[in-house]
Amino acid sequence: MIKVTNATKRYNKKKEPALKDISFQIQAGEFVYLTGPSGSGKTTLLKLLYKEEQLTKGSVQVDNIKVEKISSPKLHLLRRKIGIVSQEDLFLPQCTAFQNVAFVLEVVQTNQQQIVEKTLNALQRVGMLDVKDTLTKDLSIGQQKKIAIARAIVNQPSILIADEPTANLDVKSAVEMMKIFLNINQSGTSVIIATHDSTMVNSIRNRVLELSKGRLIRDDYSGGYSLFSDPKDVYVW
Ligand code: ADP
Ligand code: MG
Repeated sequence: MIKVTNATKRYNKKKEPALKDISFQIQAGEFVYLTGPSGSGKTTLLKLLYKEEQLTKGSVQVDNIKVEKISSPKLHLLRRKIGIVSQEDLFLPQCTAFQNVAFVLEVVQTNQQQIVEKTLNALQRVGMLDVKDTLTKDLSIGQQKKIAIARAIVNQPSILIADEPTANLDVKSAVEMMKIFLNINQSGTSVIIATHDSTMVNSIRNRVLELSKGRLIRDDYSGGYSLFSDPKDVYVW
């Protein structure tokens, strides 16, 4: 469960806030798109959820954690709940897909057999088992994105956040990506996707939170990229 109450984020006192007085709730198991043009505050809002940025005003709650109150030594408790696919997939250089996913588990010290099992399971869920021994730098952009998703879900988070996951992807890869997100959501994980890919939002209709200039201007359970969506703007699959 995510509860955001009157959240405001100001990076610079002299400029307009990046987010102004945002409130919404997301229940466990929901699939939500966060839409809006570039600069509207999508990435900032996601970062507030996992405390990569600090709130200026308001409050954010994730399950039983008050995000603005949690201290640094306890931050891992929040991060364990949330899998993150950020805009740039930063991988360990000179490491294979398997090693890049397994690394996340190694830092939380699970036993070796569990690391192997969980890593293979995550790679299988994104359809990337056959490239597990390939260096991530030798994979295509779409394959790298899937490895980033495997890395985000390997610890079985209750929430998966992805920031513009279909940017730079061709249509076929974008559709594959959406199927992966749907599959992850159907296993019970809440999924939040920031995107300005209207075709994606129109193809798989789900709740839409729309930002404009830092304000939440729409919270629509019937979905669609905007109120005036073109019915032809969908992927055919
Ligand atoms: P989006 O993801 O929708 O493109 P962002 O959250 O990245 O929007 O940006 C929202 C606003 O906050 C923009 O005006 C952007 O310039 C500003 N902003 C984002 N990150 C920072 C930062 N680290 N420092 C200062 N301003 C920032
Ligand atoms: Mg962004």
